Amino acid sequence: MTALDERDLVTSIPNLLVLTDPDVTEGYRQDRAKDPDAGRPSAVVRARSTDDVRAVLRWATAAGVPVVPRGAGSGLSGGATAVDGGIVLTTELMRGIEVDPVTRTAVVQPGLTNAEVKRAVAEHGLWYPPDPSSFEFCSIGGNAATNAGGLCCVKYGVTTDYILGLEVVLADGTVVRLGGPRLKDSAGLSLTKLFVGSEGTLGVITELTLRLLPAQPPASTVVASFSSVRDATEAVCNITRVMRPAMLEFMDHTAIAAVERHLKMGLDLGARAMLIAQSDAPGDRENEMAFIAQAFAHANATDVFVTDDPNEGEAFTAARRFAIPAVERLGDLLLEDVGVPLPALPALVDGIEAIAAQRDIVCAVIAHAGDGNTHPLIVHDPADPDQSRRAHLAFGEIMHLALKLGGTITGEHGVGRLKKAWLPDQLGPDVMELTRRIKRALDPQNILNPGAVL
Ligand SMILES: Cc1cc2nc3c(=O)[nH]c(=O)nc-3n(C[C@H](O)[C@H](O)[C@H](O)COP(=O)(O)OP(=O)(O)OC[C@H]3O[C@@H](n4cnc5c(N)ncnc54)[C@H](O)[C@@H]3O)c2cc1C
Repeated sequence: MTALDERDLVTSIPNLLVLTDPDVTEGYRQDRAKDPDAGRPSAVVRARSTDDVRAVLRWATAAGVPVVPRGAGSGLSGGATAVDGGIVLTTELMRGIEVDPVTRTAVVQPGLTNAEVKRAVAEHGLWYPPDPSSFEFCSIGGNAATNAGGLCCVKYGVTTDYILGLEVVLADGTVVRLGGPRLKDSAGLSLTKLFVGSEGTLGVITELTLRLLPAQPPASTVVASFSSVRDATEAVCNITRVMRPAMLEFMDHTAIAAVERHLKMGLDLGARAMLIAQSDAPGDRENEMAFIAQAFAHANATDVFVTDDPNEGEAFTAARRFAIPAVERLGDLLLEDVGVPLPALPALVDGIEAIAAQRDIVCAVIAHAGDGNTHPLIVHDPADPDQSRRAHLAFGEIMHLALKLGGTITGEHGVGRLKKAWLPDQLGPDVMELTRRIKRALDPQNILNPGAVL
């Protein structure tokens, strides 16, 4: 591949918003995984339209210059990490939205944040469910490219469950429209789904057609403290055996302490683990709430707190969402996203604790527990080489543990660059080769996000 001569790009494509000032491009080198090996891009292009994206990709293919698609840069796996001499192509200025209440769909451009989509559809009495903790600042295009999850996914599913159609620009500049605002559609291969979760390696998403639900009533909340992590994870399985709450989140004592240090909201600092559950059931709300509270009590919860007050419920949800930024303040993070089938959740969380103890590292654990999807947050100080080495060893050991338990190395953040060394262990050689064949078919020059995923 050749490095970009940005003058060529500027003169070849008039009216393109090209930024080359190193003070500006520096801000587009990394995502929130803060990959220390991030490259230095020659230019950042802020696309304003599908035509801009098409022009950049045509030019890049002709010139053999790599392009890293980027939404809001909130990714946690190094997916939007810049490549030396390449272009970072950001969709942050593509911000249109049209809502159709009749089909309960919205056609949106990728640069809107998840929260902006939620607010726009709420004006029509509708709801876009997927709710990553980063919903206030991640882009809807990035959500599709990573197949983002979130807190309500235990009941409502993940991003792919809400994508009916996509407009995608391929590496050679071809624009394809896949699916659309049709509630049923069996025509052809399921190509829309191929691009969901493709992490910018197969095409650039320039428009999304989203499926919406009617707005939900405010949820009721049950919060419980536990004196053992095992009790909490077993409570999770006892609940999911019978029902799916609208939220079922886990925080261990390190995460609780980190959050409490900043929010000072009276979280139980004596607890080894905390579970936050919600019910939004319109009819049998009381039964659901009573069942969850009972399940917590039967699992030896030391404290169970129930509230119908939406503001109190939101305070606990906000505390859970704040866990990653709170733990980030303890040091550099190696952020895991391992998930397992639900019956293996207790073994996974116990095993993570054992690995952290054996490697003598600080590891906070938070989890979308009702999905079996955990986020061990390994804290380390890069200035301490021995500690960093132990942290990196633990990072791999936790992924291998999840795989041994029949799980995945990533439940929602994607593989990016940071987890790609472990992808073959999960997929095996045949599926890896199939994945490479699909990549070669769509992007034979490896222009799009080279170095990510594969
Ligand atoms: C505090 C915090 C909490 C988080 N909580 C969650 C959570 O609960 N659940 C969850 O799933 N994630 C979570 N995340 C991770 C992150 O917010 C999501 O992965 C999000 O979907 C990334 O969106 P983005 O716009 O920031 O994408 P970016 O980081 O910019 O990019 C992510 C990937 O998508 C690709 N990409 C971006 N836009 C496009 C496009 N238009 N076309 C093609 N490819 C594209 C990039 O190349 C990259 O590979 C959290 C992050 C933080 C910082």
